[in-house]
Amino acid sequence: MKKHDQDFMKRQNRLTVFEIIKNQNPISRASIAKQTGMSATTVSRIVGELTEQGYILESEKVSEGLGRKSMLLEMVDASVLSIGVELDRHRMSIGLVDLQGNTVCSETYSRKDDESSDTTIERIAAVTGELLKRHSIERGRVAGIGVGLPGIVNNDEGIVVFSVQLGWKNVPLAKRLSELTGFKADVDNELKAKALSEHLKGAAIGSNRTALIGFGNGVGSALIIDGEIYRGAMNSAGEIGHSTVDPNGKLCECGKAGCLQTYINISSLLSEANHYRRIHSMEELFEARRAGERWAVYLIDRALMYMSITVNNVVCMYNPDSVILTGELIDKFPEIYEEVKSLCASRFVWEPLNGSFRFLRSELNEKGVIIGSGLMAQRRFFALE
Ligand SMILES: [Zn+2]
Repeated sequence: MKKHDQDFMKRQNRLTVFEIIKNQNPISRASIAKQTGMSATTVSRIVGELTEQGYILESEKVSEGLGRKSMLLEMVDASVLSIGVELDRHRMSIGLVDLQGNTVCSETYSRKDDESSDTTIERIAAVTGELLKRHSIERGRVAGIGVGLPGIVNNDEGIVVFSVQLGWKNVPLAKRLSELTGFKADVDNELKAKALSEHLKGAAIGSNRTALIGFGNGVGSALIIDGEIYRGAMNSAGEIGHSTVDPNGKLCECGKAGCLQTYINISSLLSEANHYRRIHSMEELFEARRAGERWAVYLIDRALMYMSITVNNVVCMYNPDSVILTGELIDKFPEIYEEVKSLCASRFVWEPLNGSFRFLRSELNEKGVIIGSGLMAQRRFFALE
């Protein structure tokens, strides 16, 4: 075996052992060897390294059952932290994420519509420094920074290819952020980060085929197959908001006519509502619907129908075992989730697949992207170290 391949194998083995201890702790060395097929010597060597570096410890607990008693290994949850960031048009949130995907702390700041990428990146670096200082966290314990944002992201190179919401094009976010903070940085699409966190820590634990659909300022989806994010050729798999519903429909912000999201997303609904009367927010629009104003009933019912159609299309295309609904519209208006769920069951999901998947609501809500991005940074750290 070539030296390069040997190194790769070693890193893979280390990551595998680490992931098993993380997910199943407390656990014995023998059980790790059995699950991975590695020799007892290899497992002991890796465990020795991880213990020395302070990531795991021998716990007081011993294995139960027949046979020889053995000491169990446990994770030191706060031994490594990562920084998770969520960027959106009007806000940025930053938090510290531990090995189990808990947020140690998180903060949200407002962001101006037209804030330049340089300014935003400098602010992320400044807040990161402050958070570490305030919580007295040594830099050596930080695995890296992960950032999730809406748009098309080249996750291999950490470049924001295109984000309508942020108004960014070809921004080398990971490189700039690394230069400013000294930490390795990862960048990904927000829904992919969110799907990962819901899969590992939230609503879809135990699911092997998870589809996450976001309804908010845009419409998008993300798919997890056997624990891995499905990315497509340029990491834009799941951009369902720009699938065509009506070629003669309304113009979308992307320049095409009749995209799915023009019937669902917040800005489209508000701009259509304003044809009728002055409406400033989705809250007002819902208020008008509850009051029985016909135009508002029509607009929201139509949006609910298209949301249900979105679920059906995703289900027909991917046959997931779990579908998670998330996004600002779902988080703020609980009735949307309930109504879409019942519309799907009674009218819109293709009958043979009705009941074939768990219909779920995001559990991590506004923390999902922070946690998912933080966990992505940790994955890279332990695979490469
Ligand atoms: Zn479009």
